[in-house]
Amino acid sequence: MPPKIGAHVSTAGGLYKAFENARVIGADAIQIFGSSPQQWSVRLPKEEDIKKFKDAHKASDNIPVFLHASYLANLASASEITRANALQSLTGHLKIAELIGAEGLIFHIGSGKDQSKEDAMNFVIEGCLKILKNVPGKSLLILENSSAGGAKLGATAEEVGAILKKIKSPRAKVCFDTAHAFEAGVIEYDSTEKIKKVFDEWDKAVGLENIVAIHANDSKTAFGSHNDRHENLGVGHIGLKGFQNLAQEKRLWNKVWLLEVPGFDNLGPDKKNVDILRSCFIHKSMI
Ligand SMILES: [Zn+2]
Repeated sequence: MPPKIGAHVSTAGGLYKAFENARVIGADAIQIFGSSPQQWSVRLPKEEDIKKFKDAHKASDNIPVFLHASYLANLASASEITRANALQSLTGHLKIAELIGAEGLIFHIGSGKDQSKEDAMNFVIEGCLKILKNVPGKSLLILENSSAGGAKLGATAEEVGAILKKIKSPRAKVCFDTAHAFEAGVIEYDSTEKIKKVFDEWDKAVGLENIVAIHANDSKTAFGSHNDRHENLGVGHIGLKGFQNLAQEKRLWNKVWLLEVPGFDNLGPDKKNVDILRSCFIHKSMI
């Protein structure tokens, strides 16, 4: 079976609104912000909001729900204050995931300038262990690969795998962002052989069973640009053929695919992007 195709959707007016927004664009899964991504403070949902969300979730046939963390959180920072803020923020967001019954919280591994890479990686590992301890339960803590550049951690399979192995928790998982990996110079999508080889590497270093989600984004910037800018599917540097090739990697069919694209009307992931992504899999099964 081709994978679930989901998208980041708005929760304006209440967390439960996400399901209606998903239905309108034909998404089979959602990613949402549990609390404002631009703020350090985390607002936990009230009892009645949780109930509304769970009712709407059930009515949606229990489609997979992922949370995305605040962009401010940087567990790898050399600054103790920044790390403490990140810890508090990510703990809060994971708590929301647990409260509403989401699969887990996807977050950016972080950037560790003014220190060695090893120190930065150790801060991330330490932070993740604390967050998992702070929020007991089932929700996963999901590390997202980066576009590299600067002191950004987690662009390669080796780095993500090394962090994952040190956290050593069944609740620590990985999200693979197609645009980030392309921008990092980790993968090109112009042939299925190249794609297979890269995922062989990720299987060895990370374990494909540990990848739970794919962020399906085209890239506004070139291969190896290290410049993280998402584009609508088919019109970026990855292109439609790139996604058709990626859709042939059947080892990724049991992952939840989530769009984080600007949208053709610049209003966020839309039906057109969902349809394009879904067509890549249909195209495949017709061959
Ligand atoms: Zn992403």
